[in-house]
Amino acid sequence: MSLKLRRINSISCALLVCLVTIEAQAAGNYSMSQAVESISVPDIKEHVKVLASDTFEGREAGSQGGRAAGVYLGEQYRKNRLAGGAGESGYYQDFSGGYRNILGVIRGTDPKLQEEVIVLGAHYDHVGYGTAENSRGPTGYIHNGADDNASGTAALIEIAEAISNLKLNPRRTILFALWDAEEKGLWGSAHWAGSPTVPSKNIKMMINVDMIGRLRRGLLTCYGTRTCSGLRRIISEQNPSAGLKLDYTWELPDNSDHWPFVQQRIPVLMFHTGLHDEYHTPNDDLDKVNYAGARDVARLMFRVTWDLANRDQIAPFRGQALSETINKQRAAERGLPPRPGRLGVKWSDADGVVKIDQIRPGSAAQRAGLQVGDRIEQIDGHSVEGGAEFLKGVLAAPSPAEFVVRRSGAEEPTAVQVELDGKPVRLGISWRTDDADPSAIVLTRVVPGSPAAQAGLKKNDRIYQIGGESIPDARQLQADRFFRDSLLKLRVGRQGYLQTVEIDLGTTSGQ
Ligand SMILES: [Zn+2]
Repeated sequence: MSLKLRRINSISCALLVCLVTIEAQAAGNYSMSQAVESISVPDIKEHVKVLASDTFEGREAGSQGGRAAGVYLGEQYRKNRLAGGAGESGYYQDFSGGYRNILGVIRGTDPKLQEEVIVLGAHYDHVGYGTAENSRGPTGYIHNGADDNASGTAALIEIAEAISNLKLNPRRTILFALWDAEEKGLWGSAHWAGSPTVPSKNIKMMINVDMIGRLRRGLLTCYGTRTCSGLRRIISEQNPSAGLKLDYTWELPDNSDHWPFVQQRIPVLMFHTGLHDEYHTPNDDLDKVNYAGARDVARLMFRVTWDLANRDQIAPFRGQALSETINKQRAAERGLPPRPGRLGVKWSDADGVVKIDQIRPGSAAQRAGLQVGDRIEQIDGHSVEGGAEFLKGVLAAPSPAEFVVRRSGAEEPTAVQVELDGKPVRLGISWRTDDADPSAIVLTRVVPGSPAAQAGLKKNDRIYQIGGESIPDARQLQADRFFRDSLLKLRVGRQGYLQTVEIDLGTTSGQ
């Protein structure tokens, strides 16, 4: 990642389009799961070890070390039988200053989709010995850039290997792009954007990987998901475990190689595991890389790339993404304020005995004459044997409802008619829709104690399926669908992981 974005190289206007003509490579024999497993810790470690070794002197663009890294990477393309992506010059797209992008292709085989291209890119250069401008110091020492971006480069090579060894060829063409001179101001990717080797209009998606070597607490940042409608769900569907927690931030930074594509209104994604103290210092070294984390990210990226290369449709660039700031995200995620209580009491639960501790003036409880110290035994004919039942009972009861309470000093239980405030709550959720994720409803509130809360649903969870059926367009969803069955089965996305949640709505009488 570039320390700060400086002047982008003037983009050449000459649109030099060299169509890829080399035939598709022979398919391999891997199944999908074998391909996933081929992306391994030892392989990633080996690539990072080579790229971040002192021999390459920090891979500064145009330096001897940078050129040597380029030779190593071209060799990896060759091993994985990628076709050349730079026309007659094979893999290497040279540009001013002795810089070069390294381009390899796996050609799509679907006659209708093969001209469409998914670009998977990573910058392989780093800052060499560092300068006052690009190093956080001390300068004059080799900056190996193990995380930035040997990690992403290794992931790209592993993904290329996995795809080239699959039994099937992709339907769309995949262009693997290792960018040079990113650290000088995105020069490599900007050069390519100005002199593309495939027509820019054919590019359906650019996936950038920059710094994935520091996965911490499983947290992976995924930028760009709002640049194309439906991307968030596509990624979540490909994330097989809750181990990776995806932050689908609305932020769209301009300091890495996806940016020249954003400027051309091409949908982008960028995977990144975050900055750290060693970022752009001589200490960004091998021993600090989380290789298992990099493997998990690379595997996810492989699945996502494969999905995008094969699905029938990819939505166009979503321009609103450019004005959707982190502040807008925060506002959207704030959700609704808590729903006012229906009864208006504070209460405690001691060994299953629910007792009223306080009564809010003017509340339903006060109007009905409930008293501090009353122990609740029944609500609307359902016995109360603990706080969970009490909460659920108050939420679900019709109004008026009969409360049976045990009052101190009284020998018999007392029945009290209570005019509860608000409507009965059956499930306990409110939601909004999200234009960038149209097949989801997004929870804006989960009422404490409701069946939804008891099943573990949380604010900002995204529901993608109800009763096994996908939601084609959340804006058209009829609320009634939630109330048809007494056992509700939902497909819920949280932090980039999808799981099934079952909610027993029982026989409660609310709506
Ligand atoms: Zn960097």
